Amino acid sequence: MRHALRAAIGVVALTLTGGASAEARGALDYVAPQGLPVLPVTDGARVTVTWYGVTTLLFDDGETKILIDGFFSRAQFESLDDLAAPDKDHIAAMVQSAQLTGLAAITPVHSHFDHAMDLGEVALATGAVVLGSPSTANIARGAGVPEERIRLAENTLTATFGAFKVDLIRSAHAPLVDGGPPIPGTIDAPIMPPARIGDWKEGGSYTIVLAHPAGTALVQGSAGYVEGRLDGVTADVVFLGTGGLATLGREHASAYHAEIVAATGTECVVPIHWDDFTRPFGEVIFGGDEREMAWLREFAAESGAGGNLAVLPFAQPVDAFANDCVAGGGP
Ligand SMILES: [Zn+2]
Repeated sequence: MRHALRAAIGVVALTLTGGASAEARGALDYVAPQGLPVLPVTDGARVTVTWYGVTTLLFDDGETKILIDGFFSRAQFESLDDLAAPDKDHIAAMVQSAQLTGLAAITPVHSHFDHAMDLGEVALATGAVVLGSPSTANIARGAGVPEERIRLAENTLTATFGAFKVDLIRSAHAPLVDGGPPIPGTIDAPIMPPARIGDWKEGGSYTIVLAHPAGTALVQGSAGYVEGRLDGVTADVVFLGTGGLATLGREHASAYHAEIVAATGTECVVPIHWDDFTRPFGEVIFGGDEREMAWLREFAAESGAGGNLAVLPFAQPVDAFANDCVAGGGP
């Protein structure tokens, strides 16, 4: 599939310089940040997760597919006034190569362009229901998604698709600008792309919890938190956004780890949103800061939670709940 995908979309693959074992897994076409292990590609898992860069994650149990973000286009920009639009040809190719026809639901972590820009087009192409904030709804409406396929979350939303129960829990974006999110505010009318990058306002950030009989996954796209918000929530694996974590400082990062990882009791932390999202789709390059992964290791040692750290291969399915996240197989 990797080769078909590359052929279809012109993915630029990086050569791994790290040795034969990773190549033997057939999974790695990028250099993992700070030498983190990469979860192995799996056949026959009850639930697979496939990462397409940034925080786009596809969960699939063979019957039902749930997509986080669905951000497949990329955008080059120098200012928030620069224009961007979904790459419809690329989205159509992804619907084919990722087998998204019949997608049950799509939900973004928040409404910034690097998460939500494509979701309306993906929903139209797949028949998916859109879950999200009123801002997210206006992205979907702009693409022409019918109202009956939009489900609004204000603070929370619970929806069931097949064996998945999906919970959106209002959280906070990484406070990167003056103690708040970049591009703050709400999207109050349907967006008709091309639109300014700055038109995709944050619109509220969510923790997304996918509970399935095989396990519970928690997706935190942006490095913010609301104190105590996840009390009583447990997870087997946390997909943890690390974008901007170093900028926010060690103290914020430590609290973030406590509120999202330690609070939910997971052993398994899978960093996401560490890649440079201005690169072409499929060109996965660490866009963060070396301190970020080092801190996650330190916080795990201090808290006793999140001790197993691994990243996902690009565009290849892995077992969402395998082996407590120990790459290459558990004990
Ligand atoms: Zn954002």
